[in-house]
Amino acid sequence: MNLEDIATVKSILSKPQKIVIIPHKNPDGDAMGSCLGLCAFLRSKNQKASVITPNDYPKFLKWMPYSQEVLNFEKENSQAKKLLQDATVIFTLDFNNFSRTGQLENILMEKQADFIMIDHHQQPSDYAKVTYSDVSMSSTCEMVYNFIEALGELDSIDSGIATNLYTGIMTDTGSFKYRSTSSRTHRVVADLIDRGANNMEIHRQVFDTNSPSRLHLLGVALSNMVIMSKYKTAFITLTQTELDQHNFKKGDTEGFVNYGLTLEGIVFAVIFIENKEEGIIKISFRSVGSFSVNEFAREHFNGGGHDNAAGGRSMDSITDTVERFKTILETYKTQLNS
Ligand code: 5GP
Ligand code: MN
Repeated sequence: MNLEDIATVKSILSKPQKIVIIPHKNPDGDAMGSCLGLCAFLRSKNQKASVITPNDYPKFLKWMPYSQEVLNFEKENSQAKKLLQDATVIFTLDFNNFSRTGQLENILMEKQADFIMIDHHQQPSDYAKVTYSDVSMSSTCEMVYNFIEALGELDSIDSGIATNLYTGIMTDTGSFKYRSTSSRTHRVVADLIDRGANNMEIHRQVFDTNSPSRLHLLGVALSNMVIMSKYKTAFITLTQTELDQHNFKKGDTEGFVNYGLTLEGIVFAVIFIENKEEGIIKISFRSVGSFSVNEFAREHFNGGGHDNAAGGRSMDSITDTVERFKTILETYKTQLNS
């Protein structure tokens, strides 16, 4: 963060504010960890703060400290609307464009308040009074740690805050292995452990609470995997019927896309997941090396994200979407093989 932004934030927080903190739709570990960690920090500074999620988030994150207090905009609509109406400051975390907030988009566009963005995705839009955007960062949680440090408040990090920030860094770095994981990231998580994050317990809560139906669904996903060696690409499809047959719950498909990248020689992995309720195919893109899935998702599938991890969607049927994907793939043949 630059000095001017730090001064602006200090001045905003020197007065009592009504603060709302918002993650992107379908919040993941980093979105939830950064919002919950920041919320607890702001409350420790005697600010009124609440987290409002655009929609629900996966069960494997529902143990996170303070998560019981989160308002889901779809479910606790009038309460959430009231908080938004009264808000004087709005933090937007782990996204950088209102279009990522689903039903909240219009409210945020109209809302007069001091917006503070903390985010590590590409191409931030320009809506915030303070934009703390850094695409080199492992996670928004690491940035919230930096934010607290910049305010000279690291000693306010208690075990609840540390646990939330640790969780988001762990999930967004694939347990500290993706390219964005720096030595600094490790220093931050080491400090979070010293401040009370129980690393083994967090890992267990997030990764080792599988249901049998989720593992069976993974089996279906893996047997559906199509490997296209000439494009160094592997993709998975899951239809709504397959999801229904395996008692699908939000978050169950988290991480499935990564299996494609564990194949030797594969640099691009994709999963197409049918969502009949929303009438879309939700797509996740992952890559290793220089192939930018952010650009691919932006260009062809209404999405975006990071260089090596991005998401998008298609309004076509799953079959048509896959056919279109294959046609597009041909135009990237050289790039994927370079
Ligand atoms: P996932 O595939 O896990 O949903 O998302 C991978 C990454 O891309 C995450 O950082 C997520 O926030 C981002 N992302 C997912 N969908 C979209 C999208 O539609 N637009 C943008 N800009 N980013 C997305
Ligand atoms: Mn993130």
